[in-house]
Amino acid sequence: MNKAHHLKQRPNAFTLIELLVVIAIISLLVSLTLPALSAARQQARTVKCLSNIRQTATAVNAFTADHKGELPENRIKTTANQHVTWRHNFVENNYLPEGEIWTCPAPPPTEPLSEQDTVDQGSLCVGDVVSNWALNGHLLWRIKLEDEEAERPAIVIRRTSHTILLSETRDRYPDLRITDNILSARDEHGGWFGFWHQGKGTYAFVDGHAETLGLKDTGDPDCRWHNGRDNTQDLFDPQERGEVPSHGHPEWVFLMPPIYR
Ligand SMILES: [Zn+2]
Ligand SMILES: [Zn+2]
Repeated sequence: MNKAHHLKQRPNAFTLIELLVVIAIISLLVSLTLPALSAARQQARTVKCLSNIRQTATAVNAFTADHKGELPENRIKTTANQHVTWRHNFVENNYLPEGEIWTCPAPPPTEPLSEQDTVDQGSLCVGDVVSNWALNGHLLWRIKLEDEEAERPAIVIRRTSHTILLSETRDRYPDLRITDNILSARDEHGGWFGFWHQGKGTYAFVDGHAETLGLKDTGDPDCRWHNGRDNTQDLFDPQERGEVPSHGHPEWVFLMPPIYR
């Protein structure tokens, strides 16, 4: 009786130790595989983001070609105190369809925004697209006045593969400039500048190519915002055409929130 009971207790199965070893091996394999999967997902999102911003840059170049070589304005006045953005203008005129092409697919610190229904410098934005793409506000910052022939010839930009055309942002504005205020704003806006691609942001350049860059690398040692000129708003001064000096902004790095360094 005792013997039979003993045999019954020894089924041909895993011991507890064997089971624990198997579980340990499985969890080891999972822990090895998950980061690789996560890295692959991040990489896929970066590729998609680059593709989206590159297509937007291509649309900007198509617009420029259709407008006697003039780059788009960031905002266009519709009445004395209303405006639309270049993004709205692009959708209205079929340079790009509205939709995901305007956004970054990386998990957001905040959702992409639109300027629509907000007031900037006394002007109400009546048309915009939900987007992560901002024009380089150092190149294209002006509000176009009614009936004004603003001069923004793309040909002035000589270092086209070096000069930023579009940057990604989580803020609502259709253009983006680096100012002391913006740099020291920390991350209250969920990121004025991109840092959600493994610490880098996505940028498209005037020649149409796109890459990810750390924010500090866009300012120093060879500035990618100012078209070879120092920090000035009037980049399209005819006197300056053809000038290709380089300069850097090491002072920016001191103001940057740690996430950008
Ligand atoms: Zn992105
Ligand atoms: Zn500069």
